Amino acid sequence: MSIVVLQLPTVKRKTETRPKKCRYCQGEILQRWGKSKKPVRDNRYRSVQVYRYRCCSCRRTFRHYPQGVDQADQSLRLRKLAAIYWVMGMSLRSVALALTPFGIKLSHMSVWRDLQEQAELKEQQYHWQPVRVLGVDGAYPLLSGKKPPVLIAVDLGDGRPVAIGQVDESNPQAVRRWLEPLVKRLGVSVIVTDDLASFRKVAEKLDLEQQVCQFHVRRWVGRTLRELKDTVPKDWLWVLEEVKTLLTELPPEGSRRLFELWKQVPERRAGRDGPLSALDRLRYLLIRLSEHWDSYRLFDWQPDVPWTNNGTEQVIGRMKMRSRTVRGYKSWQGMHAALLLAGSGAAF
Ligand SMILES: [Zn+2]
Repeated sequence: MSIVVLQLPTVKRKTETRPKKCRYCQGEILQRWGKSKKPVRDNRYRSVQVYRYRCCSCRRTFRHYPQGVDQADQSLRLRKLAAIYWVMGMSLRSVALALTPFGIKLSHMSVWRDLQEQAELKEQQYHWQPVRVLGVDGAYPLLSGKKPPVLIAVDLGDGRPVAIGQVDESNPQAVRRWLEPLVKRLGVSVIVTDDLASFRKVAEKLDLEQQVCQFHVRRWVGRTLRELKDTVPKDWLWVLEEVKTLLTELPPEGSRRLFELWKQVPERRAGRDGPLSALDRLRYLLIRLSEHWDSYRLFDWQPDVPWTNNGTEQVIGRMKMRSRTVRGYKSWQGMHAALLLAGSGAAF
């Protein structure tokens, strides 16, 4: 389980400061205009003292709240606490129940609103914050008994979730529609993804540099090499060995070398519609790796680009943590909130 640091806002009973400016006209000459007790839902106080001020310029009056309190009937602290309980895996109703020993009565709908508010704050906080390296990965979270495909984007600079969309990762048009505004708004220049053709197409269209997660590459290439080992003619086994070495060392000239190998291996078509021969499969592997070579080793010369998409997978894992304890999400908004809040881990 990830660490959730409980950084709760401070709540004061009385205000220790005077407002500096009028809330309406920014006028600076203010008169105290009475005080009142405001009932508040909080884990410590039942009520706080609120002063009213009158502006000498526009003559309007307004309330000045102590720290941690605003016009809402819950303190900022309680709103955040309710959201944290939910993120840690409690249902809306159990959050409400867990707060009753503090003498607090909240409906499950208030907990829901607190949660949406915290997620929105998180989103606003980061809306325009630039992201240079964006990790993108697909997931199939449990949502209302179904497992819809979603895409998740993570700032790999600091590991915080940036966005979630109902997008099928294998559909390049859909991926592009979702990614393009995000990339423009955040000024993304590199994406880190797995080796799907759709991501490659979109990276090209949006003029992004791409790092393909090395875990994925090694997995699928390793699998292909093992299959070929049993099927290619013995005289060509050395090519498999060389591919393996190239992929481990990722030298800059790897693309050229793979292309040379591709030219050396003869084509062996088993008829036009027949299955590919083992040598044809090997040729296909060589040309594919040669063409994609740059996207395997971007991290080698760009120090802030990670060589795997692990940062994105971690965020997805934290989002799923809540989903496991409650057996899936009931709504899209709930899942969105969980991503933004739980996905941020220690930052929440
Ligand atoms: Zn004023």
